[in-house]
Formats: sequence, C-alpha cells, structure tokens
Amino acid sequence: MAIRLKLGSYETVQNDPLDRTFLGYFPRMTEEEAWKAGRGVWRMNADKASRQRFAVIVGEGVVRAVGEITGVSTHGDRVALEGAALVEGHPVRDAWINQPDPVINGSQNPVGYCELPEEKPFIYRPCACGCGDTTERDFLPGHDVRAIQARVREHFGGSPLKFIQWVDGTLTDSASGAR
Ligand SMILES: [Zn+2]
Repeated sequence: MAIRLKLGSYETVQNDPLDRTFLGYFPRMTEEEAWKAGRGVWRMNADKASRQRFAVIVGEGVVRAVGEITGVSTHGDRVALEGAALVEGHPVRDAWINQPDPVINGSQNPVGYCELPEEKPFIYRPCACGCGDTTERDFLPGHDVRAIQARVREHFGGSPLKFIQWVDGTLTDSASGAR
C-alpha cells in the first residue's frame, strides 16, 4: 500500500517542527515543494506509515508529488515522513504525477491509504525462508515458522527445547559480556 496525504490551503507558519515557512498547496508549486509541504506533520499511525514505501501528495484533488519513504519521525502527537520526492523517470512517480487523487473514499481525513499497481515490483521481495516466492513482508504466511523449524531440525536434532535453551544461553552470555 501507499499513503496519500492531502495538502490544505496555503498558509505561512512559524516554529514549524520541520523548519518550514509555509504549508499547504499553492498553484505551480514544484514537486519538491509539494513533498516538503506534504510529508508532515500529520496525526497518523507512525507504525502504519513507516510500513509504506511510497507517499502520494495531493493538492486540490491532483497528485503534486510522489515521495519514497525511508522512515518516519514523531513531533509530539504528530508524525512526519522522512524520504525524498521521486524525480521524473521513476515508474511510480511517472504513473501518478498530475493524476487525480488515488484515494476515493468520501472521507475528509487528509491521511489515506491505497494500493498503487506500479508500486508492486518495489515492495515485493524474496521470502526470507528461501522458497523462491516473493512477499510484501519478510516471510509468506507460515514460512517464518517453517524456517525456524528447519533450523531446529538441522542444528538441534529436532528439539525445540534445545533450541530455546541455546537462544536463552546465548542472550545471557552476550548480556553479561556487555557489562
Ligand atoms: Zn518462503
């Protein structure tokens, strides 16, 4: 999924947590300006926001910038995206720039989420179990358990108890080593 952030009306601001002098949309703003104005600071779930790879900044119903998210920062009860505006040539940016708001839900909330078909090749990665399939997360459902079980079989004679004792012992050793 991607996150959609809707710019409000243009206004100047002071003491902005992101050191900006203005917020909101104004005509002919550049993509860089739209990203800067739109990446924060919002009342939104920091966890959910940080799981997205792309952000779409909308002003007056039209996509004004597409950003790639590298992390989030929190400012009191508000959250900002870290990252950068994508430049011409990136397929997600090229598909969505100047297009209508991809989130159509009738909600007044400036923060919304949506699937962008073009983001799929970027968010899917190989399942960490090594099965060769791809997933949006670290593992396909159930493959994390399978990967752990394979290690228990291979290194601990199939005994989960030995595995757990080894983990606990290793953590205790490294904790005392750090002191
Ligand atoms: Zn797998």
